[in-house]
Amino acid sequence: MSKSEKIVAIKGMNDILPSDAPLWELFENTVETILKSYGYQKIVTPIVEETRLFARAIGAVTDIVEKEMYSFTDSMNGDQLTLRPEGTAGAVRAVIEHNLAYDGPKRLWYKGPMFRHERPQRGRYRQFFQVGAEAVGFTGPDIDAELIMLCRRLWDDLGLENVRLELNSIGNAEERLRHRADLIAYFEAHIDQLDADAKRRLHSNPLRILDTKNPAMQELVDQAPKLLDYLEGESLAHFEGVKAILDRNAVQFTVNPRLVRGIDYYNRTVFEWVTEELGAQGTICAGGRYDPLIEMFGGKPTPAVGFAMGMERIIELMKSAGEPVQPAQCDVYLVHQGDEAQMQAFILGERLRDAGLDVVLHCATPSGAGSFKSQMKKADASGAAFAVILGEDEIKSGMAAVKSLRGEAGEQQQASVPFEGVVDYVVDQIVGDDHDHDHVHYHA
Ligand code: ATP
Ligand code: MG
Repeated sequence: MSKSEKIVAIKGMNDILPSDAPLWELFENTVETILKSYGYQKIVTPIVEETRLFARAIGAVTDIVEKEMYSFTDSMNGDQLTLRPEGTAGAVRAVIEHNLAYDGPKRLWYKGPMFRHERPQRGRYRQFFQVGAEAVGFTGPDIDAELIMLCRRLWDDLGLENVRLELNSIGNAEERLRHRADLIAYFEAHIDQLDADAKRRLHSNPLRILDTKNPAMQELVDQAPKLLDYLEGESLAHFEGVKAILDRNAVQFTVNPRLVRGIDYYNRTVFEWVTEELGAQGTICAGGRYDPLIEMFGGKPTPAVGFAMGMERIIELMKSAGEPVQPAQCDVYLVHQGDEAQMQAFILGERLRDAGLDVVLHCATPSGAGSFKSQMKKADASGAAFAVILGEDEIKSGMAAVKSLRGEAGEQQQASVPFEGVVDYVVDQIVGDDHDHDHVHYHA
């Protein structure tokens, strides 16, 4: 590589720039507050796990395991490793490894980057962020409904209106086996209408054919035997239970019989939150039950249900909903000129921060320390409420100049305040005109 050749980010992996950071922060704070309000506890697991964890937890005949995983051999010891493509596998591994459910059921949540080698396009990236929840040790329809209602609260709090809920039940393994036989027979009878993908899946994972996005196959898929019609007793009761709780809580949904998961350990409830506003990648959250998984991984039989939401898609939806982005702002910008003034500025800066204020201290750049005039321009641009100005005169008199920057042009006040009084003065002024100020927290 020549010296001047620029290194750029890996295709499909995005930077989140400071201009977008406040929106991400708003989303993260909102979802974390809501998860906590439903009793969910945070779990953090490694980004890298053994490849076989994902191969088993996600299923060998899935898009993810067939072609999307970033897998590599650890050159130090030859271990087969993979960057996590989703969060459930790691969470389940941790629950079993640390016996987390030994003293009763647990409500867990996580967030972080996931990695899938997909064709990058709008809403589909190679590194993307998910927030997810996993409730382990609960059997009934109540927890399924709770997870769904938690999501609805999130969309409401974020001001997202055009999000709909699709719901289905995929029953249990026996019910699916009977459906599968009929499904294969049905598709075999129409083999000439199947595309190459569908033919490949016909015997390995026929349920996935129902998921096809090929317009030419929609009619065929619409007429296919519906898994919902194969459910019996307990499966039906569970599904009715979820629907009853949602109905009583005015959560609207449509039953979509084509909403399926082509993986054996998924069972009963599946749901997706979808929007028409994001083009082809309209699913912002997908969830469902996976009761058999923990036992399959060597844990005690423990039912489980969860969801994962794609953060990039939600952020894009927040943008289109016009959620205002608050630029990052500080309370005080410290302007100074001369060595002694700089020392005093450091001292004042620390005291202001002790009082809970956000402070930016002017620092030298390649063009120099900066004249008062250019420093004041920076202070204005910072969005600070006040500039505290220290120059030779101020050092001599022991008084700082405190200038308010947010008043109407022309009525910006400036006061002369003794160094020891600057913190009280600024705090008084900020609390005086903004009772909700969220930066200032007082020390007793
Ligand atoms: P899709 O059908 O869109 O490929 P998926 O079934 O692979 O989705 P899940 O594994 O259920 O998706 O992941 C849950 C959520 O994570 C998705 O609904 C979506 O919001 C988000 N997501 C999945 N893959 C990506 C990606 N490559 N880039 C951005 N977000 C993603
Ligand atoms: Mg996918």
